[in-house]
Amino acid sequence: MFDVDDVLQTLAAHELKLTPQRRRVVEVFFRHPGEHLSADDVYAEVRREHPDVGLATIYRTLDLLSDLGILDKLEFGDGRSRYELDRGERERHLHLICTRCGRVEELQPDELLARLEGEIERRTGFLVVDRELKFYGLCAGCRADRQAGR
Ligand SMILES: [Zn+2]
Ligand SMILES: [Zn+2]
Repeated sequence: MFDVDDVLQTLAAHELKLTPQRRRVVEVFFRHPGEHLSADDVYAEVRREHPDVGLATIYRTLDLLSDLGILDKLEFGDGRSRYELDRGERERHLHLICTRCGRVEELQPDELLARLEGEIERRTGFLVVDRELKFYGLCAGCRADRQAGR
């Protein structure tokens, strides 16, 4: 599992330190596993304990952590970038994005995806090494709301 030691190692490999700001930002993600946080979300949470932090610092830190592969930067089509911890190959997942309420669910379709990628390789000789899959639609709650005419 991805933990603070992994972050330390990645930073050290680039001769960077886990400064207090970087640590605070990383800790927000460890406190929200499986969530997809915007810079504003991270800013709001860090500010509660450290009112002196600036939004520009948060953006810089998110960019740096994304460049290092500690975070994944995601676009879900609403103009706001989201970030999540990069959990590596073994925990790759799809995102299901509700176009009504903006909720983002994760799905681990290991077998399904392996079959699809095997099929792509078989048909085209193309070896898939990375993927970014997003499905847009209505979440279960919004479907129920719609059926109820809400
Ligand atoms: Zn929804
Ligand atoms: Zn995700």
